[in-house]
Amino acid sequence: MTLGGKTAVITGSNSGIGLGVAWELARAGANVVLNSFTDSDEDHALAAEIAKETGVEARYIRADMSKGDDCRQLIESAGACDILVNNAGIQHVAAIDEFPPEKWDAIIAINLSSAFHTTAAALPKMRAAGWGRVVNIASAHGLTASPYKSAYVSAKHGIVGMTKTVALETAEEPITVNAICPGYVLTPLVEKQIPATMEEYNMSREDVVRNVLLARQPSKEFATVEQLGGTCVFLCSDAAAQITGTTISVDGGWTAL
Ligand code: NAD
Repeated sequence: MTLGGKTAVITGSNSGIGLGVAWELARAGANVVLNSFTDSDEDHALAAEIAKETGVEARYIRADMSKGDDCRQLIESAGACDILVNNAGIQHVAAIDEFPPEKWDAIIAINLSSAFHTTAAALPKMRAAGWGRVVNIASAHGLTASPYKSAYVSAKHGIVGMTKTVALETAEEPITVNAICPGYVLTPLVEKQIPATMEEYNMSREDVVRNVLLARQPSKEFATVEQLGGTCVFLCSDAAAQITGTTISVDGGWTAL
């Protein structure tokens, strides 16, 4: 087990990419801490299922990533934090002059500021352990823009910038800091965008998927949560020890266009 003995904290991991990353890190031997803001029986059951299937320790800790104190408390409550995956994120789509200010604030808080707070709290633990990995789940929207996603694109460009900055601050230490930039992955976050688009353009689900969502994804296939998890495991491996301050796109060719 390549990551045996390490503890990974994955923010926003009761669903989608975060949950997929937690499974792959657990399969690679890392103990995992799941998180969301809900604290439901299902959340704790997910952790129990990962522990049962993979044999690692898996826990769920409630913390609201829109609140700085909660972000820092999550890392404290986790105990060890060798691997930090900043994944929690939300989306809202609207023209900038119609963008609700509270949605802007929530997206910046959850998709960007949370990573500031968790990283600040986790680095001293990584330094004490003599090893650390920070993996930020950014987006193709961290490298390029789309209309009507001003808050999301701003937050994702911001997290790419923070990735580079923290990588430079830790460059001489056994700690790496990188961002993964997924294209479209079929998770609840994306699923929620389909019905409104079908209605707006009077399109079938298939047309929305191929001609709207995957219009800019040359492979015409969604990336999978397992592929995102595998990329994360690679960034935590010894082979990736000199990879820091960069982005890895998992986007079917989107950013090559
Ligand atoms: P998702 O909706 O399935 O999961 C989002 C996760 O964030 C959930 O676990 C949710 O509980 C958590 N979350 C939301 N608000 C929170 C809060 N206040 N506190 C704690 N947790 C909170 O979405 P996803 O598609 O899996 O997205 C995960 C990340 O991947 C996001 O940062 C998203 O921007 C990024 N991403 C997704 C795609 C895609 O196509 N799905 C593409 C690029 C990047």
